[in-house]
Amino acid sequence: MRIKERYKSERTGFSLEFFPPKERDQEEKFKETIKKYIELNPLYVSITYGAGGTTQDKTFEIVKFVNSFKAFAVMPHLTCIGATKDSVNFLIKKYDDLGVCNILALRGDPPKNVENFDISKGEFKHAIDLVKYVREYFNHFSIGVAFYPEGHAQASSFEEDFEHCIEKMRLADFAISQMFFENSYFLRYRDLVAKRGVDITLVPGIIPIGNFEKIKEFSKFCKVEIPKKLEDIMSKASSQLDMKKAGIDYATQQCAELIKEGVKFFHFYTLNQFDLCSKVIENFW
Ligand code: FAD
Repeated sequence: MRIKERYKSERTGFSLEFFPPKERDQEEKFKETIKKYIELNPLYVSITYGAGGTTQDKTFEIVKFVNSFKAFAVMPHLTCIGATKDSVNFLIKKYDDLGVCNILALRGDPPKNVENFDISKGEFKHAIDLVKYVREYFNHFSIGVAFYPEGHAQASSFEEDFEHCIEKMRLADFAISQMFFENSYFLRYRDLVAKRGVDITLVPGIIPIGNFEKIKEFSKFCKVEIPKKLEDIMSKASSQLDMKKAGIDYATQQCAELIKEGVKFFHFYTLNQFDLCSKVIENFW
C-alpha cells in the first residue's frame, strides 16, 4: 500500500515509528508492542535504519516481520551517507521483492568513529541524491523525506536548510518533521512551503515525553527548543508516573492545537513503547 495514496484517500490518521530492538531478548516485547498497536489502526509503521546505535541489518528483518501482518503499510527508513549505489539498489530491491513500496529517504549522520569523514566523497551526498535515485530506478515507491521546523542542526542557518529541504520536497511525496515542542515552528514552516507552491503533505513528528532528561539531551543535539512552558510543567512532576502523565497531556495539547490549524496526519515517535503514544492516539482516533 503506497503511503502517498493513503494520504490522498484518508480524512485523518497517524503513523508510528519504531527502531529495531538492539538485543535479541527485546524482540518478543517488541513484537507484542506491534500487535497492540495494530488494534489502534495506524496508517503505516516506519522502521528506523541505524539510528541511535541500532544496526542497519536489523531494519530489513523487522520490516519483514511487520510487513507479514498485512494490516498496515510499512515504510523502512534508508540513509545514504557512506552508502554505494550498489548497496542501496540491493536493499531497495529486497524491499521491492517483499512487496514494500514506501521509503523514507534520508542522508543520515556522519559516523562518529571516523575522523574527518568527508561527505563530499560519497556516492550520495545529501538525501536529495537518494530521492533522485529512488525516483529513477524504483519510481513505483512512495518517497518520504525528513524536515526540520527549527532548521537542521548542522545547517548554517534556517534559511539555508529550508532551501535545501524545498528542493527535496519538490521530488518527494510527503515529508515528516523532526520532533518539536512549539507548534508555531511547524505552522510557520507549512506556510513557507505553501508560499513556494510546493504541494506536499507535511506530517508533524510528535514525541510524548516519558523521560525529560533524555529528551533535553536529544533536543540539544538536534537544536530543538524546549519552551519554558514545557520546562515548567516537567519541573512540577515529582515521579516518573507524573512525568509520563505530563508528557501525554503536552503531546495531546500539541495535537489538538495542530488539528485546529487543519493538520490531518501525524507521525508518532514511539521509542518502541506502547503506554505513551497509545494514550495520546486514543484521544483523537
Ligand atoms: P539532508 O536533507 O541531506 O540534509 C542534511 C544537511 O545537509 C542539512 O543541514 C541540509 O541543509 C544540508 N543540505 C541538504 N542538501 C544540500 C545541498 N544540496 N548542498 C548543501 N547542503 C545541503 N537518522 C538515521 O540515521 N536513521 C533513521 O532512521 C533516521 N530517521 C529519521 C526520521 C525523521 C522523521 C527525521 C526527521 C530524522 C531521521 N534521522 C534518521 C536523522 C537524519 O538522518 C539526520 O537528521 C541527518 O543529519 C539529516 O538527514 P536528512 O535526510 O534530513 O539530510
